Amino acid sequence: MKPHASQLPNYAPAETAIQREAQFTGAILVERLPRLVASLASAAGTLDVRFQVGNEIARPPFLRGEIRGELQLTCQRCLEIFDWPLQAKVDLRLVRSEAEEARWLQDYEPYLIEDDRLHLHEMVEDEVLLALPLSPRCAACAPPSDEAVADAVRNR
Ligand SMILES: [Zn+2]
Repeated sequence: MKPHASQLPNYAPAETAIQREAQFTGAILVERLPRLVASLASAAGTLDVRFQVGNEIARPPFLRGEIRGELQLTCQRCLEIFDWPLQAKVDLRLVRSEAEEARWLQDYEPYLIEDDRLHLHEMVEDEVLLALPLSPRCAACAPPSDEAVADAVRNR
């Protein structure tokens, strides 16, 4: 395993990554992702990223992986700041033209390669923005989960 402290590169050459089925592992400081910071209560924290590029027959190459970290959000009910555990799965298809993008859009989430670059930080930022809750609630304000409701019914 690579050391935890390695930084995820900002971008990587796309065709080389596809040929070598490259793996990208590393950390990014949340403060380096300005669009994400705009949605958070603070810019504190680090994201851990694991991406794997691979080839498949009759389909565009994939970029799959996971982003983990702890983000600080503001509870929309009590307005307290709380730590929100992020665990986002990433599953993209690397396409090389807009025609190819349009062709796979139905079944996959295409990523259009431009200038032979995979913009890794931008990818992470986009995926984390998608994963954020629309209306964040701290643990005390969160509606009871289905399981908790089932327990309450059983114990009545
Ligand atoms: Zn709250």
